[in-house]
Amino acid sequence: MNALVYHGPGKRSWEAKPKPIVQKPTDAVVRIEKTTICGTDLHILKGDVPAVTDGRILGHEGVGVVEEVGAGVSNFKKGDRVLISCITSCGKCDACKKGMYSHCADGGWILGHLIDGTQAEYVRIPHADNSLHLVPEGVDEDALVMLSDILPTGFEVGVLNGKVKPGDRVAIVGGGPVGLAALLTAQFYSPAELIMIDLDDNRLAVAKKLGATQCVNSGDGKAVEKVMALTGGKGVDVAIEAVGIPATFDVCQDIVAAGGHLANVGVHGKPVSLKLEKLWIHNVTITTGLVDTNTTPMLLKTVVAGRLQPRQLITHDFRLDDLMKAYDTFANAAKEKALKVIIRRG
Ligand code: ZN
Ligand code: ZN
Repeated sequence: MNALVYHGPGKRSWEAKPKPIVQKPTDAVVRIEKTTICGTDLHILKGDVPAVTDGRILGHEGVGVVEEVGAGVSNFKKGDRVLISCITSCGKCDACKKGMYSHCADGGWILGHLIDGTQAEYVRIPHADNSLHLVPEGVDEDALVMLSDILPTGFEVGVLNGKVKPGDRVAIVGGGPVGLAALLTAQFYSPAELIMIDLDDNRLAVAKKLGATQCVNSGDGKAVEKVMALTGGKGVDVAIEAVGIPATFDVCQDIVAAGGHLANVGVHGKPVSLKLEKLWIHNVTITTGLVDTNTTPMLLKTVVAGRLQPRQLITHDFRLDDLMKAYDTFANAAKEKALKVIIRRG
């Protein structure tokens, strides 16, 4: 089969690899029908994730068809159409028993990281019973690819950790796919204000279409002043950080209201300074997290019902054997006006 293979910082290729096989009774092999590229894949290619070694097939999102299952898999059979979770989980260890699948003792985020991933014609999925979801009949499978990672990430780590409530003022710093996923799913809770902050006017225009009540371009360095002006000087009840750099975390620290929540979603590579001299008296809760994907079954229902429409996040379409080109486009997201790219077999 062919696959997108990482060969050290800055190096990737589309090349022949052996087709994966069932290695353990709990494995399934899935034929990839659709996949996509994540911002995390770009981090890997920059060399920011040293655990990813030369020769690794990238990708942790996708929809496919079960090709083969091990003797211990009871929920799925050959021919089933499945959504692949970006998090692999055994369902049995201490972390899994708490619903914290991201910290599974024999899983977590391993696809396209510690084991070969989904940007290939086939992928091996360990602990298939707990790490795959059956695709409901007639559902838009392109939209479902958004449920492998970005929708549960924006929802769990942004909206749920941030405790968004009806009537809240919510600000999201970063209008990339995950920030927009938080924007879409925050609306389950009817917040009064949904303020999107980004440097890119195109992304702000998309945010406006997807339900942002206010958009703030932070290019002039005055995001904090603008948000304070929009909130009568009070700040926001929930500040969701969806970028992962010190400047955007600082904006969140400066706009979170007394009693508010700061939910960090961004992947940070550098230390940030905590403004405890200001926040100690502010009754603020700061949360961090990696997605557990235990909300995926719920999100799946909202997509089937049409309440959530993640197809809106897809801007580009490629064939699997054009994955190299898809990376070029996704890596130049601002210029190409790219959010999520869908990559389909044949
Ligand atoms: Zn991802
Ligand atoms: Zn586990």
